[in-house]
Amino acid sequence: MKTASIAIQTLGCKLNQAESESLARQFTQAGYVIVSPNQNADVYILNTCTVTHIADRKARHFLRLAHRRNPDALVIAIGCYAQNDAETIGDIDGVSMVINNHQEQNLVDVVAQAGYLPCDNNLASGRFRTRAMLKIQSGCTQNCTYCIVPQVRGSEQSVPASQVLSEIKKLINSGFREIVLTGTHVGAHENIVELIDKIVKTNISRLRLSSLKINDITPSLLELWRDERICRHIHLPLQSGSNTVLKRMGRGYTTADFEDAVTIARKAIPSLSVTTDIIVGFPGETDAEFRQSYDFCQRMEFADIHVFPYSPRPYTVAAQMPDKTSPQVKKKRSNQMLELAKELSYNFRNKFIGQTMLVLWESVNGTYTEGFTDNYIKIYTKSLTNITNQIQEAKLTKHYKNGLIGELVNSE
Ligand code: SF4
Repeated sequence: MKTASIAIQTLGCKLNQAESESLARQFTQAGYVIVSPNQNADVYILNTCTVTHIADRKARHFLRLAHRRNPDALVIAIGCYAQNDAETIGDIDGVSMVINNHQEQNLVDVVAQAGYLPCDNNLASGRFRTRAMLKIQSGCTQNCTYCIVPQVRGSEQSVPASQVLSEIKKLINSGFREIVLTGTHVGAHENIVELIDKIVKTNISRLRLSSLKINDITPSLLELWRDERICRHIHLPLQSGSNTVLKRMGRGYTTADFEDAVTIARKAIPSLSVTTDIIVGFPGETDAEFRQSYDFCQRMEFADIHVFPYSPRPYTVAAQMPDKTSPQVKKKRSNQMLELAKELSYNFRNKFIGQTMLVLWESVNGTYTEGFTDNYIKIYTKSLTNITNQIQEAKLTKHYKNGLIGELVNSE
């Protein structure tokens, strides 16, 4: 038996981040000390992702690295890659356990049963305070032709509202100012409108939603933004701005449907930030189709675009499609799309120069304190006092790095 420090590392999406944060909270509550994955730990937990072959490769690399860092450590793989290919992961030298999605909830018990006990000196870690990710839903039944998520996460499941509310109250009481509702698609929660309505009846300071689908953009959902604590930021994965590619992807909508949803949302929520995901180099994507995708993204004026070069996933329909795009073409298109993302993001931020906005200050980095507006603009300020985890007004004055400089106006 030994007292143990735990390092949790996360790959992939916001849902994985939410699950890792929840795990970190469970370990902290049980009396373990959470340390950085770059430190020497007794237990390494890697929350894996399998959305691309690069994510798989990264997972194998991090698992080997953990073992090299401390050859005596318990190394545990969880998450989608662990669920999908337990055999390959289990064969990696130093990996002690591969845990499937159903066993993850008991991880604290699993670690204790392996003989790794909480430290006597229980230091609660404040590492995650300020913004917390909370899982409210997981799984998907859509079966887009390229996606492995339905295979590894299964069909849609919602966390009961009573459980979400009790978690939210605990997070508020522990000092979190912003809570991000996450899931494979948060809008697929069985009763998302009612749930948010209940959440804003608590004394939460800020509520953010992660990924939505265009069908979720209904008048009753948009009504909720009358409450200013709901962040004016919607992430709507488009995946391609070409109708023929969308059809091959099995996304079930056209660019016109997508544009309608964004127009309605922007009308209902002024200053809304709309961000998206785009896949480049989908099988058979021609130069003309890529151009359509690029032009559509430009027209939609996204505040940010997450660009993913297509990666074939085993047992998916797209993996069997002909006319694979060459790695060189994928790289070129990816760079073009990333340049566009940078330009659009700059243009979005530019609209707010001169305005005074509320910022949740999250961390200090060198001479600057950094935080985010509710519509997800990164703000840098110089403050003589520690203002982290406070929401304060700042006058936004000029561009700086990937955000804006803000001058503090008043204390909260
Ligand atoms: S990409 Fe498609 S299949 Fe994959 S999680 Fe999203 S909607 Fe579901």
